[in-house]
Amino acid sequence: MISEALKNRLNASQQTLEAGKFYPHYHSIISRDNDGTAIIDDRECLDVSTNSYLSVSQHPKVIAAANAASSLLGVGSGGSRITSGTTSLHQQLEQRIARFKGTEDAVLFSSGYLANIGIIVALASPPLRSAIRLLDPTVMESINQPVDLIFDELVHASIIDGIRQATSRLSGGAVEANRFKHRNMDHLEKRLQSSTAPIKIILTDGVFSLHGRLAPLDKIVALANNYGAAVYVDDAHGAGLYGHTGTGTAEHFGVEDGVDFNIGTLSKAFGVEGGYITGTHAFCEEMRVQCRTHVYQTSMSPGNAAALLEVFDLLEREPWRRTKVLEAADNINSSLKELGFDTLGCETQILPVRFFEEQKAKAAAEILLERGLFAPAYFAPAVGIDEAMVRINICYAIAKDESKIEQLLDALAYAGRTLGVI
Ligand code: PMP
Repeated sequence: MISEALKNRLNASQQTLEAGKFYPHYHSIISRDNDGTAIIDDRECLDVSTNSYLSVSQHPKVIAAANAASSLLGVGSGGSRITSGTTSLHQQLEQRIARFKGTEDAVLFSSGYLANIGIIVALASPPLRSAIRLLDPTVMESINQPVDLIFDELVHASIIDGIRQATSRLSGGAVEANRFKHRNMDHLEKRLQSSTAPIKIILTDGVFSLHGRLAPLDKIVALANNYGAAVYVDDAHGAGLYGHTGTGTAEHFGVEDGVDFNIGTLSKAFGVEGGYITGTHAFCEEMRVQCRTHVYQTSMSPGNAAALLEVFDLLEREPWRRTKVLEAADNINSSLKELGFDTLGCETQILPVRFFEEQKAKAAAEILLERGLFAPAYFAPAVGIDEAMVRINICYAIAKDESKIEQLLDALAYAGRTLGVI
């Protein structure tokens, strides 16, 4: 029964959301093409907001692989990994990710979101209670050491949720969490200096997903080494793009050995869905038991696993996709700044174009749509109150086509002038 108190709470929450106009307006995507175009709300547009940076999601070979696996194994996996949800494709994919990252092993999750939650809780919490009974009392002592999770204030929501769970009373550990100012190394150092916990973990995104900035991983790793902290990087938007071989931001900064926990998603550059962590075989085996979001969730569909195997092969054969994306994004960012736009210090394939006020950002998105470009507006609380923006993501289908880049710049310039921001 829903009590009066709960009813009042739900009503109050609905009123707040209505007053703040927080209800989302979903655009409906009817179809998508390999060249970056899509039918959205019955209108043909160029999708300049997709996270599918390398434009492999519509690749005929990737789709064929997904279809073949679905015919063979069904569209759903049918269970969690530990029951009936492990197909040979899941196992091959874990090995393929490990090969890509140059590690012994990798653990798959159904999404990047679940990867962060499961891994953070597993790193910060004591092991399974049933296993503790088997331990020597001296080992128990090292297990119950306090943990300090020190995180950049702009990390993704899934890291925040992982931290929330890890610090909850129910998780059973002595875990505290402290945020440091976005990319502010002096503040991070202060946090490390004042931390008394013997286990310290610094958590950051590799590429910050709304502002398109890189975490200064070289500096973070140097500080971590000075203060005996471990480094956790969620490279959702960096893996597949950054670094000499495309493995991500750790490679870009030359600190692969300094990043202790390397997490990624398969939903962005890799164009499908899923999440992973890489490491030694022993560490991955531990994660397979300790991460509840790995153990208790239905595994990814066989079709998606097969699609991803094809994607990894494709990206190995076509490394120019990522170099083209980064080069084009850099040029577009320079052009936007020349036009007079503030792109909020972005330096990656994610280009936030600042329109300052919520109404202007929404109007800019409308203007873009009228001109055949789809890019939604972002505003508070998703970003700072005066940071309302249209976020443009550069993908390969756009990067390789000068006429599409021109269309994008023309439309943004028109929106900027019409709304008085340039
Ligand atoms: N981390 C970051 C930085 C992200 O941007 C996202 C997705 N927006 C996630 C994790 C979650 O990944 P997924 O969408 O694959 O669950």
